[in-house]
Amino acid sequence: MAPNIFQTNFSEVYSYLSQFTRWRPYQHRVLANVDGQLVPIPINLDTVNRLCGMSLTAFQLEAFFASVAESKDAVLTSEDVVVSKVGRDLYNKLFRGYARKQWGLDPSELDSSFTARVPTRTNRDDRYFTNRYQAMPFCGYTRMFEQMPSHPYIKLMLNTDYREVANPVPWGHLVPSGPIDAFCDYRYGKLPYRSLRFEHVTLPQASFQAVGAVNYPNDDAYTRITEFKHLTGQPHSQTWLVYAYPTDAGDPRYPVPRAKNQALYKKYLAEADALEHVTFVGRLATYRYYNMDQVLAQALAAFEKIQAWHASDAGKGVANGAALVVAA
Ligand code: UDP
Repeated sequence: MAPNIFQTNFSEVYSYLSQFTRWRPYQHRVLANVDGQLVPIPINLDTVNRLCGMSLTAFQLEAFFASVAESKDAVLTSEDVVVSKVGRDLYNKLFRGYARKQWGLDPSELDSSFTARVPTRTNRDDRYFTNRYQAMPFCGYTRMFEQMPSHPYIKLMLNTDYREVANPVPWGHLVPSGPIDAFCDYRYGKLPYRSLRFEHVTLPQASFQAVGAVNYPNDDAYTRITEFKHLTGQPHSQTWLVYAYPTDAGDPRYPVPRAKNQALYKKYLAEADALEHVTFVGRLATYRYYNMDQVLAQALAAFEKIQAWHASDAGKGVANGAALVVAA
């Protein structure tokens, strides 16, 4: 299980999910383990002062970044984005090793699209996210996900390949959310998706680390240790951790941000666009490094579009039929 922290600025997504769960307010904090120190990530004033042994003020930090930033004619890769903002030393300490483990590639081989996920701050805000809504489902995701399909019109079929049901079920609209390359029988070759292997550890002690997650941008094989107590607020004499080990094997989790992968995805997208009454939704089906809230926003938008089509001249008179939603 991966630690998924719910956070969003989309009030419609928050209110949509609020039909299915109550919330436990939770602000995620992450520390990075660097040179024997634990420093806040995203980079903020304390990160720089501690790693560089300085005592800058927020005002001086801008000037410091300007003095260490490498100027680039064109910012193309994720390495370019980081070194042109915070310089090579902080890049090496906090980003390079982490990304090499996470993606199996050097940041100079990854495009810049995803680096906005980890901003740079000049203040002392040490929250991982700054979005307006940040909370965990009060009784956990399992209870929330049980509530979501609990509706007389919704039938769940687990462990079923969509090919087994696509013909017998009289669907009016198909919504694939698994990997798009698999849906298209890998016609143009496999799209790379990166995965994680999780190692769960229970320790006979009440607490292990100060915050929900500690990142390891160093030589350890894992990238992150999450201590779930911080996320759930559960008091207990033991504690439960998960170590995340990036890998190519296992369930697809991350589209890999590279121009050549986007070009391959575009071929699949052209096929997808040519299909009638089929809407691809989600991280794997639209090959985008989306957070949970972005996927929900995408799904709600897809629903509105399908509904609008049924209300339109073209769609009037066409029976709604079933919407067949197929997951990975
Ligand atoms: N990243 C990094 N160092 C960190 C945290 C993140 O280099 O301490 C980079 C890394 O390439 C990572 C990306 O930023 O894959 C996105 O991080 P995020 O925490 O959003 O990853 P996720 O939770 O989606 O695995």
